[in-house]
Amino acid sequence: MNVLVINSGSSSIKFQIIETDTQELLCKGLVELTDDLSTFTYTQGENKIKKELKINNTDEGIEIILKQITDPETGCLKDLSEIKAVGHRVVHGGEYFKETMLVNEESKKAVADLFDLAPLHNRANYAGIVACEKEMPGVPMAIAADTAFLSTMPESSYLYALPYEYYTKHSVRRYGAHGTSHRFVSAEAIKLLGKPAEDTKIITCHVGNGASVSAIVGGKTFDTSMGFTPLAGLMMGTRTGDIDPSVIPYLMEKEGVSAEELVLDIFNKKSGLLGVTGISNDMRDIDAAYEKGDEKAKLALEMYTQRIKGYIGNYYARMNGADAIVFTAGVGENDALMRSLVCKDMEALGIKIDEEKNNTRGTVDITAADSKVKVYVIPTNEELVIAMDTAALVAGK
Ligand code: ADP
Repeated sequence: MNVLVINSGSSSIKFQIIETDTQELLCKGLVELTDDLSTFTYTQGENKIKKELKINNTDEGIEIILKQITDPETGCLKDLSEIKAVGHRVVHGGEYFKETMLVNEESKKAVADLFDLAPLHNRANYAGIVACEKEMPGVPMAIAADTAFLSTMPESSYLYALPYEYYTKHSVRRYGAHGTSHRFVSAEAIKLLGKPAEDTKIITCHVGNGASVSAIVGGKTFDTSMGFTPLAGLMMGTRTGDIDPSVIPYLMEKEGVSAEELVLDIFNKKSGLLGVTGISNDMRDIDAAYEKGDEKAKLALEMYTQRIKGYIGNYYARMNGADAIVFTAGVGENDALMRSLVCKDMEALGIKIDEEKNNTRGTVDITAADSKVKVYVIPTNEELVIAMDTAALVAGK
């Protein structure tokens, strides 16, 4: 079944078409929305098209994507009717989305009810659903929420130590993010371990520009490092990660900034690797500066990797051990130095990597021969999960 996967964000729309019987990727692309000219990139096999266009909103973005997909010369389909289903990524699923669900009035309302908790993200996701419904009436669609796989966390993991009524009255709790990625790579790790899922304990490290670590017991999420929003947990490309909230009123006074500016702009966009080094949020630039002996890059890498190590230790202790640690996403899949620094000096926990395997691109199992815990590098594939879930839901409808 051809499934169109849509990830409609506030500044971009990403898409893929996946034939779910063969799991073949037919085409993929990206619309980068800007106030000026937007960039549209389309890739089909070896062929890549890049255009600059005026795109005013999500509706127009979806229209352009569908036109390209069915372009008689450069498209991957002859007709839109070849798309049998659409799977939408939604960032915040709240307590409603515990699994992928079909699009209907109720599930759409659930996405809209969460605008308060994820204003930018869920609004953009919602706009993508509505635009596709307009362009492809009658085509079944599904919603894969990025928090769904994390919804199995016990209350003791997701609650903050606030007055309890803030949870019941205002839904303040840990929700996490990257759930679809944690789900995909933990399922792959379970296959590699060759044990029944119920008997496994896995720590998944999704380290991209945004980053989170999850503890997965018996195939279900036990805890995750992101919180009420994706600002919590690890130090990231531009985000602080965990920080004492008392810093907020203190800096508001000292710097004369509002709480909103501090949290939304400085903590989210100007901190992390970028904030500490003043160089970049991109780990490739930090690595290059580190190799040249830059002190700030060395400090930032130390902070970044110590925090990942800290979460591994936290989850290892609370799960009473681990069968495997998995690295994934842009940094996790590509950065041997980061993996090496994280896994250094963890022999006491039975964790040791083989440095040669770690330095060989494409090696999945980087475990040292005498390590008790397996260490894997597994490329994530969130779109495949969304496409397969959507196809299964539509087939069983
Ligand atoms: P997100 O989906 O969070 O935007 P990705 O998972 O695509 O991010 O990761 C993007 C990040 O991956 C980039 O910011 C960059 O720091 C990092 N990255 C990509 N390639 C490499 C590489 N070869 N070495 C180190 N880091 C890399």
